[in-house]
Amino acid sequence: MKRLCIHTITTKPWSTEECIRNYSAAGVEGITFWRYSLEGRDPASVGRMAREAGLEITSLCRGGFFPGRTVENRQAALDDNRRCIDEAAALGAPLIVLVCGAVPGQSLTESRKQIADGIGAVLPHADAAGVKLAIEPLHPMYADDRSAVNTMRQAHEICDVLGSPAGVGIAVDVYHVWWDPELKTMIDLAGQTGRLHAFHICDWRTPTSDLLNDRGLMGEGCINIAEISRWVDETGFTGMREVEIFSNRLWAMDQSEYLDKITAAYGEIYS
Ligand code: ZN
Repeated sequence: MKRLCIHTITTKPWSTEECIRNYSAAGVEGITFWRYSLEGRDPASVGRMAREAGLEITSLCRGGFFPGRTVENRQAALDDNRRCIDEAAALGAPLIVLVCGAVPGQSLTESRKQIADGIGAVLPHADAAGVKLAIEPLHPMYADDRSAVNTMRQAHEICDVLGSPAGVGIAVDVYHVWWDPELKTMIDLAGQTGRLHAFHICDWRTPTSDLLNDRGLMGEGCINIAEISRWVDETGFTGMREVEIFSNRLWAMDQSEYLDKITAAYGEIYS
């Protein structure tokens, strides 16, 4: 299916090898690996296996979590991000998605400064490895401990602070930004500035029973995915549309049936 990519975490009960085999058999074009999918494996072999199955490797999730209360905490984050960059390079992933981080009780302004500093510090390593970085703004409900970057505008501001390097862009995830009155304007700006690096889809369920693991399959919620996709495409973006769903409910399903549902839901929107 054209431009359909799936994140390995979407079918978390499957092993890395099962994800590769089953996505490929279903006609999925791309795969985004989560770092846990590489544990105990050689990233280069995993990358080769995916490509041999006909899958394009879209990105590696995730780096980030730059803010910390102490220098040691922040240094540990930089070390981990450099390892993540090395894994992405070995895997053959052109992009790392950044969940930028936050520290409960630390001001969001300070965390955003530490995020910009952290990205700036690892950027030379990423550039040398040929790996790009994408700041993913997260819904404000995660501003306490997952990300102090909660809007597309804030992600743009960090790119600006860094001097707009080509290696740093933005990952647009509809789950996090669908509510933003500036969304279209900020997507347009991302297109104009060459910052639109990734596009993630899923849906927002009402009620949402779990802040992290109750995302919906496309069509199960209230996000106007077709409209946002149109805005993304209108910028000239031709990359993958990445299905990224954390859901205890859907992980409990037979994953082959679930994969059928994913391709059907994708086909409904992008027929
Ligand atoms: Zn995402």
